[in-house]
Amino acid sequence: MVKICCIGAGYVGGPTMAVIALKCPEIQVAVVDIAAPRINAWNSEHLPIYEPGLDEVVKECRGRNLFFSTDVEKHVAESDIVFVSVNTPTKTQGLGAGKAADLTYWESAARMIADVSKSDKIVVEKSTVPVKTAEAIERILTHNRKGINFTILSNPEFLAEGTAIKDLFNPDRVLIGGRETPEGQKAIHALRDVYAHWVPVERILCTNLWSAELSKLAANAFLAQRISSVNAISALCEATGADVTQVSHAIGTDSRIGPKFLNASVGFGGSCFQKDLLNLVYICECNGLPEVANYWKQVIKVNDYQKTRFVNRVVSSMFNTVSGKKIAILGFAFKKDTGDTRETPAIDVCKGLLGDKAKLSVFDPQVTEDQIIRDLSMKKFDWDHPAHLQPLSPTNNKQVTVVWDAYEAIKDAHGICILTEWDEFKKLDYKKVCYAIIRGA
Ligand code: ADP
Repeated sequence: MVKICCIGAGYVGGPTMAVIALKCPEIQVAVVDIAAPRINAWNSEHLPIYEPGLDEVVKECRGRNLFFSTDVEKHVAESDIVFVSVNTPTKTQGLGAGKAADLTYWESAARMIADVSKSDKIVVEKSTVPVKTAEAIERILTHNRKGINFTILSNPEFLAEGTAIKDLFNPDRVLIGGRETPEGQKAIHALRDVYAHWVPVERILCTNLWSAELSKLAANAFLAQRISSVNAISALCEATGADVTQVSHAIGTDSRIGPKFLNASVGFGGSCFQKDLLNLVYICECNGLPEVANYWKQVIKVNDYQKTRFVNRVVSSMFNTVSGKKIAILGFAFKKDTGDTRETPAIDVCKGLLGDKAKLSVFDPQVTEDQIIRDLSMKKFDWDHPAHLQPLSPTNNKQVTVVWDAYEAIKDAHGICILTEWDEFKKLDYKKVCYAIIRGA
């Protein structure tokens, strides 16, 4: 029986392994994490992440061939294929601070794999930021190998949060990168056989290691660029009287451009886009390509500009001050159908309004009060460390209240900011709400 172990029970590791277990009943899959509360949640009725369809998949396989455990070393030692999906935060100090990926957690996972292994292993890089990680990890493993063979693969994840299960069931492509040596090719085939249980082989693309890693960075950079492009156009639309939804519809009907990822918004968020862009910029700079670095840097700058512009519009529409005014914040997650708040534009918008002394009443259908308060008091980049290393629960901010109903958030508010496109916000009775706001004003 093939045994798979995944280190890191997060947004990537959890759903991906659950789907592998579902589609490959003869493979035993263990998902391990140092964070006991996270593992306990995976073993409970309330999974630690919200993802449509995930509950059903986990319920079907858990205890059959899918296991969640904190016994990291035991499961790593027993497995044939080890996926590594641990945190890869942006460095906050030293060389590459504010841009480069911090590989501390990856490195310690690699050293642990080398320590506990007694049999040959395929080690698969599946973290959120691929930056020649595979090469670095290969070096650590081969230096500490004690006669054991480790073969490194890069298998970047392309799932989108909110549609993770759908994406995993029916991926556009699966990318597997490996060395062009006989061992590398053998390992690629072994991993391809796992995915071939449900993915048509023509959609499983095999490349060299760095091509696989760079493809992930490039794909996210292109997606983020589309959002920044349409957001830049939205600024021009607002200045000139064009309607950005009409413009983006007109652009998107051109089959060479296509309609996806063209909704103007308050900006992109999520754990990957900014991080991957920053890494792309850093890699370009390190390779003596400042023009290319600046090109991609601009995508982030437009995103920051969009968030600032949003706050400025809110404040200027209320006689240039929101001091003491109640503002309803509808939606805090970085997009609909997820409870994930990592790098959500809501954080910057809320901080901007709080800076102007607004009182915020926040409602999101999937984000907890603790998370919102924590996000609003956390330093940039702190979110991407394992939970036990993050700052302790912050003291409550008196300017922020978190409520459990949209109408409650809106009650007596001077303004409403819709920051996540949750479907339920489309169904609110805005006539009633506006009337109440105007009467209260
Ligand atoms: P992603 O979005 O890439 O899945 P997450 O931050 O959600 O990232 O998950 C990463 C997980 O990896 C965290 O739950 C963290 O506790 C875990 N982790 C980090 N380092 C280790 C390690 N050395 N051993 C086991 N788990 C680890």
